[in-house]
Amino acid sequence: MENILKRYKDCGSCRALRGTVAVCAVFVQEPGNVWTEAEIREQQTAQTEALQYLLQQARVSGVPLRFRQTVRRMNTQRVWAYGDVQGFEDAYANSEGKRSLSECVAALNAAAGTEQAAFVFLFKKEGVSFASCASSVYFSEAVFMYGKLHFPVLHELLHLFGAVDLFYPPAVTKEAVRLFPRSVMYNGADPNCRELDDLTRYLIGWTDQTSPKAMALLHAGAGLTAEDIQRGMAEVFNAEYTTVYFPDGVYYGPIKNWHMEGRGRMEWNDGAVYEGDFVGGRAHGRGTLRTADGRVYRGVFVNGKFRG
Ligand SMILES: [Zn+2]
Repeated sequence: MENILKRYKDCGSCRALRGTVAVCAVFVQEPGNVWTEAEIREQQTAQTEALQYLLQQARVSGVPLRFRQTVRRMNTQRVWAYGDVQGFEDAYANSEGKRSLSECVAALNAAAGTEQAAFVFLFKKEGVSFASCASSVYFSEAVFMYGKLHFPVLHELLHLFGAVDLFYPPAVTKEAVRLFPRSVMYNGADPNCRELDDLTRYLIGWTDQTSPKAMALLHAGAGLTAEDIQRGMAEVFNAEYTTVYFPDGVYYGPIKNWHMEGRGRMEWNDGAVYEGDFVGGRAHGRGTLRTADGRVYRGVFVNGKFRG
């Protein structure tokens, strides 16, 4: 356990989520992916709400915490490939007259009078949001958000301060569903998942106590190496056959772009079962649904609804 804690707590300039933290939101304007003023306001509101929530939680926990928020825009001449983190970071640093994002982080800290700083890069195009830090595949202090999905900024920011995902691998998910189904680290995209679980509170430095629940998650495998996570993410986002635990049931089958897609089987906790085609996470195509009270629907499903 010591190794895990050391690895996650020593990530760059972000160590524990306490004190004053500079958060710089950078709205990235690519050709064809340009933010409107209304959209920028909307995203800023969402980010401020997420930070307010953290502040409120910190207060309740007796943790001193403040944020210094700034906003910037970056105009680029090219559309950045999803995942070209290093290339993009270099370009951003360059646009700021710096050699690396680390230098940008240092400059942000110097300007804000803080010791910890995080960049939140907001892209308008589609993609899965992620944090780029020591606890993930890449190393820097930045969060990459993609506009066409929900903005799970809370989840991603917590990564920068040591939090780990609870949706992978299956053994961890299984424990997380049982212990913390509403944890923001279990499902950052679901607005109902806003809770800070015991393990997260421990990893972000809000408590020195490892609760039995936190230990259960660690023993189940939470806090993997960067390579493990990279491999695991690939499996979670795209798998020919996998098992995904949800708060209300279990899915067995293929996953594409993080959605149930292809021929699979969903078993709900109440006993209902659907076996058949899935598209974009919903029953869509040919399949059979047996409801909890024993009714059977066999035929064509469209967007999760039986059509006959
Ligand atoms: Zn995550």
